[in-house]
Amino acid sequence: MTLAQPSHQKAKALRPGARRPAKELCSECGLCDTYYIHYVKEACAFLNQQFPALEAQTHGRDRDLENENEQYFGVHQDMMAARKQQPIEGAQWTGIVSTIAIEMLTQGKVEGVVCVQNTPEDRFQPQPIIATTPAEILAAKVNKPTLSPNLSVLEQVEQSGMKRLLVIGVGCQIQALRAVEKSMGLEKLYVLGTPCVDNVTRAGLQKFLDTTSRSPETVVHYEFMQDFRVHFKHEDGSTETVPFFGLKTDQLKDVFAPSCMTCFDYVNGLADIVVGYMGAPFGWQWITVRNDRGQEMLDLVMDQLDTQPVMSTGDRQAAVQQSIPAYDKGVTLPMWAAKLMGVVIERIGPKGLEYARFSIDSHFTRNYLYTKRHYPEKLAAHVPEFAKRIVSQYKLPE
Ligand code: FAD
Ligand code: SF4
Repeated sequence: MTLAQPSHQKAKALRPGARRPAKELCSECGLCDTYYIHYVKEACAFLNQQFPALEAQTHGRDRDLENENEQYFGVHQDMMAARKQQPIEGAQWTGIVSTIAIEMLTQGKVEGVVCVQNTPEDRFQPQPIIATTPAEILAAKVNKPTLSPNLSVLEQVEQSGMKRLLVIGVGCQIQALRAVEKSMGLEKLYVLGTPCVDNVTRAGLQKFLDTTSRSPETVVHYEFMQDFRVHFKHEDGSTETVPFFGLKTDQLKDVFAPSCMTCFDYVNGLADIVVGYMGAPFGWQWITVRNDRGQEMLDLVMDQLDTQPVMSTGDRQAAVQQSIPAYDKGVTLPMWAAKLMGVVIERIGPKGLEYARFSIDSHFTRNYLYTKRHYPEKLAAHVPEFAKRIVSQYKLPE
């Protein structure tokens, strides 16, 4: 007996460069590069906001809005700061993500790992793959800080017959993945997420590097760190730091992708486990375990980590409120003032989870204003309830 072909397999992927259903809001998550485009109206993070339903499907419940940590950081059962005892050379931080993925594969929990390498010509041009060896996972270490079509390999997953899969990805990719998960014919799906904010196209990344770094062509790695500075690492191993307040915001205002300016899933609420940094002390990574699958992944690497409980000090709210009109007007401080402000804020400013809340508040208020001005008809349905509550703490300009 032959089984009927699932209806999505008859759908036609879009050609590269063709306009996507979400139009300028498309984050190039990759779904529309596959026959899963069949589900795009329900699945696309920018066409259909459905956090409570997908949280319930994934974690067994949606986030508790009366609990401040859940409101901000999503459904979770554990949170900690961690770092690898032996960091992976060249990873974005200490390589916890790559290490979990390698253990998942070598201990037989999954047959493949969706992750993103770079193209041979360009260290920042993403190339999603299904890794089936530790070497292929290691070759995907370090952020490709641009929109990446991670889901473009999903069709290959189904065709390969793989039944147990790990997907590494950022929020918009994972929202779409969760929406099509049931149609993928998998026995087990694990999702290892990272937070994500202010992503850019490859051209936008170049503009950011050109306006911010002293040597844009030699940058191999950068991160917006908890000390309120962008840290660049160059090919020769040297480092360069630029204070956030000294960024050329007048030129950078339009550099972020419209998708990221309307995104409220900074903390990747639908992953099983999330590995970032912003809720941890400087130099440490930040782990949020959302459900039992996330705990299962973390258990595989616990003996390779130093950990400490999360902490939280300072008060973010005045700093967030002051930054709203400054960002809105594209104000750039002279470098001496920016450095001074960075030093003061670092000494007395928010740390640990309060720093994470500072970053979430700043981005959600900015994105709420952007959505209201550019997509007023989408505002009510697109902004999730948890984000509306966060934004309502602040006074916004019209
Ligand atoms: P590594 O072991 O180096 O592994 C990195 C993994 O990231 C690889 O497996 C790779 O497949 C994947 N990856 C790389 N580029 C992309 C991409 N464009 N899309 C999807 N997956 C990708 N953390 C915060 O706390 N706050 C933030 O604001 C924040 N912004 C981020 C923005 C982006 C675009 C990305 C990709 C990550 C961001 N992170 C953020 C997460 C953080 O920078 C680290 O990626 C995370 O802590 C893991 O570090 P690691 O050393 O364990 O990762
Ligand atoms: Fe398609 Fe993803 Fe773009 Fe939405 S964000 S239109 S699902 S490629």
